[in-house]
Amino acid sequence: MQKQLKEYKKTLMELKRLEGISALLEWDQENQMPAKSIKSRSETSALIAKITHEKSTNKQFGDLINELYENSDKLDPVEKRSIEVTKKNYDKVVKLPTEFVEEFSKLRSLAQSAWVEAKAKENYLHFEPYLKKIIKFSRDYARYIDKKKPIYDVLLDDYEEGMTTTKLQEVFSDLKIELIELLSKIPTKENKKSLSSQVFDKDITRKFLLEMTKQIGFDYERGALGEVHHPFETSITEDDIRINVSYPEKYLAYSITAAIHEAGHGLYEQNVDKKYHETALGHGVSLGIHESQSRLLENMIGRSEAFWKFFLPKLKKYYPSLDKIKVEDVVGDLNRVTSSFIRTEADEVTYNMHIILRFELELLLLDEELSTKDLPEEWDKMMHELLGIKPKKISKGVLQDVHWSIGAVGYFPTYALGNLNAGQLWNKFISENKKWESEVAKGDFTSYFNWFKENIWRHGGYYKPRDLMIKATGEDLNAKYFVEYLNKKYLG
Ligand SMILES: [Zn+2]
Repeated sequence: MQKQLKEYKKTLMELKRLEGISALLEWDQENQMPAKSIKSRSETSALIAKITHEKSTNKQFGDLINELYENSDKLDPVEKRSIEVTKKNYDKVVKLPTEFVEEFSKLRSLAQSAWVEAKAKENYLHFEPYLKKIIKFSRDYARYIDKKKPIYDVLLDDYEEGMTTTKLQEVFSDLKIELIELLSKIPTKENKKSLSSQVFDKDITRKFLLEMTKQIGFDYERGALGEVHHPFETSITEDDIRINVSYPEKYLAYSITAAIHEAGHGLYEQNVDKKYHETALGHGVSLGIHESQSRLLENMIGRSEAFWKFFLPKLKKYYPSLDKIKVEDVVGDLNRVTSSFIRTEADEVTYNMHIILRFELELLLLDEELSTKDLPEEWDKMMHELLGIKPKKISKGVLQDVHWSIGAVGYFPTYALGNLNAGQLWNKFISENKKWESEVAKGDFTSYFNWFKENIWRHGGYYKPRDLMIKATGEDLNAKYFVEYLNKKYLG
């Protein structure tokens, strides 16, 4: 087995490095690439993607994976799980007919440009025929992968291994009831705009963000801070993790919360145990767990009074004009709850309603209980039920998100899972670290860093998401702790 294992690991690492090249090209495209190089760059990216695809679907590699999988009882647990993950991905790719993959890929790029145009023109009917096909292709995709499983379970599994529709329905139905109740009780606060009162300088803000994320624990010897339109984190290699933010001139709070959020993703990636680096487990395990690490750092810590007790004086050194702003102004500003149309701008209470809405609509569309023609009407009706508002423009309603146009159906729930996992982990963390507030108020993030490294980060992809949550908190995923956290924070 040793010879085969060595061979497998060699190909696995080569694939990982190729993926790193793709990630670097994408990162650069957002950061530095001159506008006119888009054509040659997309050829470069397509070539790397082709080489990666050929290598990962190669028959010899497949035989090797199958042989190792059949003998996996002879391997140590880490290699065994690595083979399991690789086999699962390999099986998925080879189950799909080449024609289907090509057609779906073509459809996605057409659908995406149709979506851009439809959104700009406020014309849903321009996008509707593409969406109809996307839903059909998603259904076919699920059938190719696993005929026996419910369609939505197969789609979900691509993003959150082991999660099921039934489990989500159970968790979301509790959450919905609790959130409606909570929203009716939260008092509306006046809009003070403490951190959006002037024009801010990009270079100065960047210096503050570097100091802040470093203090939290992000390692700049193995990472970097970039500038993009839409903030994201990307891993080029295990020792090169890039977090990226944007700098809207008048919206300092946006740059700061984005940096904290992306640092949460970055810390997870930077602190996976070295023993997983040369396996298929060398990264965060799923989108729902990844998002829990970013949301927890951003919302539970980054929007807390303790955090701003320490960082507001630092920020004032960079921006003396903020001198009169008080900690409570910033904290109030960063924690305002109000129903809004756009998911990405929603506060932490109303955010999950946006996800529940998309989840329920996706189920109806896939089950053919709702046609894409009737989707806008159903969207508005549900939004009114959940948030008490109705969008006046289609660009602020059903056309706001890019996801469906790129074929990401079954993806949205991972955003809500991020919040729920964060609530559950936060409850456990604070019960074991009662002094977190006084520590953070002194700029000491050691307890936070050590707890999450020990319970989440170091495990990489070894445990499946739900097993990891049980291991870290003693319980399977549930909405209880997130709701408790919100109640305590907003109702006192
Ligand atoms: Zn995120």
